[in-house]
Amino acid sequence: MSNLQYQLDLLKAMNSKISESEHMYKLIVEQASLSFIYYSFEKDTYFSMGSFNKVFGFQVVNNNDLDRFFSFFDSSKESRIREIFFSERFSKNEESIDVLDSYGKRWFRIVCSKIYDENDTITDKVIKIIDITKDMSKNDELLYMAYYDSLTGIYNRNYFITLLDSFISRAKDNGEKVALLTIDIDNFKKVNDGLGMIIGDEFLQQFGSYLKTIADERVLVTHLSNDIFGIGIYNPYGDYSVDVFIEKIRKRLLEPFVMSMGMEVTVSVSFTIAEFPDAADSALDLINCGDIAMYKAKTLGNNQTVYFDAKMLEDFMNNVSLENKLSDAVINHKFEVYFQPQFHADTQKIRGLEALVRWKDDDKGFIPPSVFIPIAEKNGSIIPIGNYVLDRSIRQFSEWRKKFKHDFTMSINISAVQYKREDFVDNVINTIHKYDVDPKFIELEITESILIDDFELVTAKIEKLREFGIKISLDDFGTGYSSLSYLMRMPIDTLKIDKSFVDSVMVDNSTRIILDSILSMSHNMGFESVAEGVEDENQYNYLNAKGCNVIQGFYMGKPVPADDITKILEECPE
Ligand code: C2E
Ligand code: CA
Ligand code: CA
Repeated sequence: MSNLQYQLDLLKAMNSKISESEHMYKLIVEQASLSFIYYSFEKDTYFSMGSFNKVFGFQVVNNNDLDRFFSFFDSSKESRIREIFFSERFSKNEESIDVLDSYGKRWFRIVCSKIYDENDTITDKVIKIIDITKDMSKNDELLYMAYYDSLTGIYNRNYFITLLDSFISRAKDNGEKVALLTIDIDNFKKVNDGLGMIIGDEFLQQFGSYLKTIADERVLVTHLSNDIFGIGIYNPYGDYSVDVFIEKIRKRLLEPFVMSMGMEVTVSVSFTIAEFPDAADSALDLINCGDIAMYKAKTLGNNQTVYFDAKMLEDFMNNVSLENKLSDAVINHKFEVYFQPQFHADTQKIRGLEALVRWKDDDKGFIPPSVFIPIAEKNGSIIPIGNYVLDRSIRQFSEWRKKFKHDFTMSINISAVQYKREDFVDNVINTIHKYDVDPKFIELEITESILIDDFELVTAKIEKLREFGIKISLDDFGTGYSSLSYLMRMPIDTLKIDKSFVDSVMVDNSTRIILDSILSMSHNMGFESVAEGVEDENQYNYLNAKGCNVIQGFYMGKPVPADDITKILEECPE
């Protein structure tokens, strides 16, 4: 091979290598959606490359094209982009900016690099333009999720805590206050169960949007959890006092919320208030205080407003320790059942026994049911406790029936939580079968509160139990809700008049008037009337004279263990 030929071949090979790598380079650049503008000082020429043409629809070859390029972006950022491109005072490092296009649709990152010679003079500039729309929308989403609640679009709990903490530190510096208003939708479960989760969510959404309308630089609103919302107020005085907000919200709630499917949802809410610095000095603790006060509010009923105080915290802590003890008591069967006799008012013969649960704690002694039953209802342990009472009392009843000839009734208290269980009716019937007793001697005591939730469902269960032969007694009558209207429609056998009437019957004339009419109404409707909490002879005589059928109370007999009842039955005439 001649020298010339050799050189020619070499040149060819080099050329093809270059065009190969050029081709590869082009591919990579286009693939990565990279566009470039190149400027050479020496030649004073512009040159665009990569996918520039594809993205922008033109090429940059002169200053006019460059202007056209700058105007492609969000106009508020144009001067900054020019600055990056033209300024020569910047460091040798890259300068970059993320900008939206002028339509606000796509995000670009513009990176400007300058190339210097050995004398530190700029020789070339390269602008790299990268489409980052995808990354930005991912970021937007992440950003959104970090700050906002996806259901309601108001601040999420975490971000609210951060903002409320900054309210608190500002208030600390200025010697001012911060209030946390916690809002809990009353009976929200009813909305969810009755209308479905989708409507439930839509309601929460609408309520959240409504709260958003009262937010401003001093007022933060958040969706704390589930059906609980929060409002943080800086310096809650005057137009910003919690009362103003409560009134505003209550007023709004008088109107129904209209769902997209047309149905209307009306709710009431309960409020609690906890303030920095009185209640706590961090956002998280304020929220906890609000929760504790809400716990209290819920025991009072619906539509409550409760201010947090220190005593509440103490009660709550006691309850927490009680709750732990209660779980332990359930596991270790620490319950017993006592029985309180009831007597026919006229003959003073025994009419029945009411089964009353007893819990004896190793340290604290007897803990009254009025204290632990609400806790057990809340944490669900009322189910095993209730089942125990049901089994224990019916078994005991069966034993007594075999031994004694008395016809008497066994009355068992049923909590609303038990009653709502699907297996409730079967459970009762099975227990009655198990101990082979006549259902007509078994009476279940229920309260009006269970009717509030779902009257139809509740009465359907009552009918089923009564068909089987079981008696139903309405406990604590007179303390409840729209007593009379429910009473007319209720399939019950017995009316238990609440102790509060008996307590004041001898001293208060208006109580007497109400009591008299309850008794005559009960009589007219064919119910058996039972007065509870009868503590003295005067009360007994009065009730007997007014035709009350049955008397229960310390005057005639306290709740006692089963053995003591056995003795009474042995001594008592049938
Ligand atoms: P309740 O059903 O109204 O039961 C009557 C309560 O009044 C009982 O309180 C009883 O000891 C008390 N008592 C009866 N006569 C008198 C009296 O003359 N004077 C006074 N001062 N009190 C009298 P106890 O046993 O403390 O029960 C309180 C409540 O706890 C019951 O009220 C009932 O609602 C609930 N409870 C008791 N046992 C059970 C149970 O096994 N299951 C359920 N779900 N609740 C129960
Ligand atoms: Ca009762
Ligand atoms: Ca009662």
